[in-house]
Amino acid sequence: MGSANGFTGLQVKKPLFSFGVISDVQYADIPDGRSFLGVPRYYRHSILVLQRAVKQWNLLNNLSFAINFGDIADGFCPKDRSMETVCKVVNEFKKFRCPVYHMIGNHCLYNLPRSELLPLLKIQRGDGCAYYDFCPVPGYRFVVLDGYDISAIGWPPGHPKTKQAMQLLQVKNPNTDKNSPVGLQGLDRRFLMFNGAVGEEQLQWLDGVLQEATSLKQKVVVCCHLPLDPGASTEEALLWNFDEVMEVIHHYNCVKVCLSGHDHKGGHSIDSRGIHHKVFEAALECPPGTDAFGYVDVYDDRLLLFGTGRLESCDLYFTH
Ligand SMILES: [Zn+2]
Repeated sequence: MGSANGFTGLQVKKPLFSFGVISDVQYADIPDGRSFLGVPRYYRHSILVLQRAVKQWNLLNNLSFAINFGDIADGFCPKDRSMETVCKVVNEFKKFRCPVYHMIGNHCLYNLPRSELLPLLKIQRGDGCAYYDFCPVPGYRFVVLDGYDISAIGWPPGHPKTKQAMQLLQVKNPNTDKNSPVGLQGLDRRFLMFNGAVGEEQLQWLDGVLQEATSLKQKVVVCCHLPLDPGASTEEALLWNFDEVMEVIHHYNCVKVCLSGHDHKGGHSIDSRGIHHKVFEAALECPPGTDAFGYVDVYDDRLLLFGTGRLESCDLYFTH
C-alpha cells in the first residue's frame, strides 16, 4: 500500500520499549579515595551522577523503567550512617517517574543486612533472597540474579549460606585476607570474599524461568551485579559459579544479553554461544563533572545502549 507522503519507507522503526541504566553509585559522605589498585573514587560526586541520570531519564520521557545494577552506598560509609546513606540514594532513584528495579551488591551488604536492605529496595520475597524476574512487554523477560546468594557477607553470622561461602573460600583461597587474590592464578582469582555465588535453589529457579520463557517465545535479558563472562570482566570480579550459571543459560536459546556492574572499568564480550555480555562503567569513578549512565532502546533483534560520559554506547545485535 502506498503512503500519502511517500516517506513511509524512510521512517525509523521505534523501539519496543526503553529503560535507564546505572551501576556502582557507591555514594558515601566521605573524602575521595582510591581503590585497592589505586583508581580514584569520588564518593561525594557519585550521587550527583545519579541525580543527572534521573534528570536525563525523566527528560527523555519515553523510558518504561530503570535498572540499578547494585552497590549504591560504599562500604567505607560510617556504620552509624549506613541507613541514612542508603535511604538518601534510594530517594534519588524515587525522583524517577517510572519503576526502578534494584539488585544488591557487596557494598550494599557491607552497609546493611539483607533484612533491612531488601525492603528499602522493594525486593520482598520473604526468604531473604534477592532474585526475581519481570516482563515489561509480553515478548521480553528480565531475570535479576542474586549474586550474593551464597556469600560471606549479608547473611547473619552462622547462617548456613555464610558457612557454605566460607568453606568454599577456605578451599579456593589460601590467603589470610580472603579479599586478596595474591597467588591465585587465572580464573581462580575470582574466589574473593567480595564476590559470591548463585545457590542451587536459585539455579533451579533460573532453569524454570528460562524453560517458561522458551515456551512463551520470550527473549531474555539476564541482570546480575557480578559479571558472568571472563571476556567482559577482570577475573577478580566474576561470579564464583559463573560457569554453572552460564551452563543453565546455554541450555536454552532465549537469553540474548547479560548485563552487570561490579567491575568498574566496564567491558563487553560475545561468548561462545553468541550471547552479549555488557558490564557497565561505574558512576563512582567519574571525576567531578563527568558521568556514567545511560538508557537502552529494545528492539526485536537488538539492544541499543546510549551511554553518557564514561558509559560507552554500543549496539548489541542478537546473533541467534
Ligand atoms: Zn560490587
